Amino acid sequence: MPAFSKRSLARLETCHHHLVMLFLEVIKHFDCTILCGHRSEKEQKILYEQGKTKVLKSKHNFLPSLAVDVAPYPIDWKNRDRFLFFGGFVLGVASQMGIKVRWGGDWDMDMQLKDNKFDDLVHFEIAGGFHDEEK
Ligand SMILES: [Zn+2]
Repeated sequence: MPAFSKRSLARLETCHHHLVMLFLEVIKHFDCTILCGHRSEKEQKILYEQGKTKVLKSKHNFLPSLAVDVAPYPIDWKNRDRFLFFGGFVLGVASQMGIKVRWGGDWDMDMQLKDNKFDDLVHFEIAGGFHDEEK
């Protein structure tokens, strides 16, 4: 059974307990790595200036973090299909657990991927609250 590295766990522990519960379940079935949990506003600003995010304020900036970036492991950034497959898997597990999650591959949560204007396929956040995040 796959398990998180210490580094991944430390990152996950900066997140909202629903995200912690969700990914502790996901990892039992699908090996993955936590890229980022909480992010300071200063770190957010740097990513914004680098064009890596579209927003100056993100759900990652809360403590605990309301967003987490997770990639299927081993990471292969060229294998887009695997990120889509992983995203769908995470949403299925979340649904079974009654946890409302919004994924960066389907911001408007209509289960359609072709209308997604900005893909952030590693991003999962607690749904609700400020809705125009990272669009
Ligand atoms: Zn993110």
